[in-house]
Amino acid sequence: MKDNNCIFCKLANGEIPTATIYEDEDFRVILDANPAAKGHALILPKEHYANLYELDDELAGKSMILAKKMITKLTKALDCDGYNIVQNNGEAAGQTVFHYHVHMIPRHKDDKVGLGWTMHELTEEEKALKEKQIADLKASIERRKKLLANENYVSKAPAALVEKERLTLASEIEALELLEK
Ligand code: AMP
Ligand code: ZN
Repeated sequence: MKDNNCIFCKLANGEIPTATIYEDEDFRVILDANPAAKGHALILPKEHYANLYELDDELAGKSMILAKKMITKLTKALDCDGYNIVQNNGEAAGQTVFHYHVHMIPRHKDDKVGLGWTMHELTEEEKALKEKQIADLKASIERRKKLLANENYVSKAPAALVEKERLTLASEIEALELLEK
């Protein structure tokens, strides 16, 4: 269904001309009128859905597959270093046009495109949860280190299993570093 009062319905269906970079049966991809970076594009379904909550499951999947296809091509064409895929739902989340759309924003190393967020101060509950995660992780690391230091285990266990333990240990150490940052 189209919504007669929706500008994105009109753009998606070609009723209002716009810079189109891709079109198929379900979607039109257009350039954003106020780009965060050169090449900032929007995936618009041709049917009207206000947001991801309302979007048909099949189209939701197709829109992400299309995003993947588009950024793969565009990364080469624009010679950029990465892409942000942004999708806002609801006014509180920064949505200003209430027709589902996916932003694709090309990024270059050290560009000044501001999409980050500042982390909020942890609540007491969140702090306690984090402390517990750290303690559990440390205990698991110690157990695994002991296991891998046990020559009997290392010589008798299947090599693939020992290797898996080593990889898990490396991941746990990395996870701990991130949590303790
Ligand atoms: P959002 O804040 O996620 O709802 O994003 C809406 C986006 O639509 C903004 O980035 C706008 O710059 C863009 N936009 C609004 N009107 C038009 C238009 N007529 N053509 C192209 N992009 C538009
Ligand atoms: Zn619409």
